[in-house]
Amino acid sequence: MLMSRAFQEEDTIIDVCGVKIGGERPVVIAGPCSVENLDQLSIIGKGVKEVGADMIRGGAYKPRSSPFSFRGLGEEGLKILQQVKEETGLPIVTEAMSTDTLETVYRYADVIQIGSRNMQNFHLLSKVGQMDKPVLLKRGLSATIEEWLMAAEYIMQEGNKDVILCERGIRTFENYTRNTLDISAVIACKKMSHLPIIVDPSHAAGRCDMIEPLTNVAFAAGAHGIMVEVHNEPRKALSDGQQSLDLEQFSSMMNNIDRLMDRRIKC
Ligand code: PEP
Ligand code: MN
Repeated sequence: MLMSRAFQEEDTIIDVCGVKIGGERPVVIAGPCSVENLDQLSIIGKGVKEVGADMIRGGAYKPRSSPFSFRGLGEEGLKILQQVKEETGLPIVTEAMSTDTLETVYRYADVIQIGSRNMQNFHLLSKVGQMDKPVLLKRGLSATIEEWLMAAEYIMQEGNKDVILCERGIRTFENYTRNTLDISAVIACKKMSHLPIIVDPSHAAGRCDMIEPLTNVAFAAGAHGIMVEVHNEPRKALSDGQQSLDLEQFSSMMNNIDRLMDRRIKC
């Protein structure tokens, strides 16, 4: 299998506009859950860039559990991401939710995110597998590690070898946290696959007080990076405010990560 260590022994390192994922230096992707407006994203983009984030995230097409929730700005949101990329130089990670909007997302994204709810949307996986941009494949809410790796295989079999795995917590009986971060999955994936793997502590915990400790655990387990939700005013966020760090909290976390991981030295 293309994703397996048996097929390729050495780690895959993916280059996203000069940012390398899968190597020794851990990568930090930061930004709001949803793109809300230019002011918001510009403040967040500049704020996270200043303290060392490598890429910006933000959803323009949002898969929401309730149809009453904010579902994203669509292409307007992608245009805002592009503007903030121009201002900050940060490459864009954004989600493609369906095959009808995939081409549009492709035009703006540097990394195309496939969300948890679409991890087994095999048609979407095949389509994104025919594209020449890296794919961030989030683990399904109730997917086993094997199902997740098979989803990566779907993409790779179409020709796109640049797949980044993202552990974002799985659904368990525990409800103190939104999901349960499966840290063993990071270790298991690194054993079985050469693909880079990152952790999203925001969707795993669902609460901002756990982001930094879970990030430390992710790095201790060998994750190649994290993707974290950051908002300039989390209380006013249109989605996932309760799990978003504000810019000050993010800055303090980045200081600690840089110190622990020698990220600056590895630049
Ligand atoms: C997201 O990262 O914006 C998101 C919706 O996450 P998930 O697909 O993991 O729920
Ligand atoms: Mn979110």
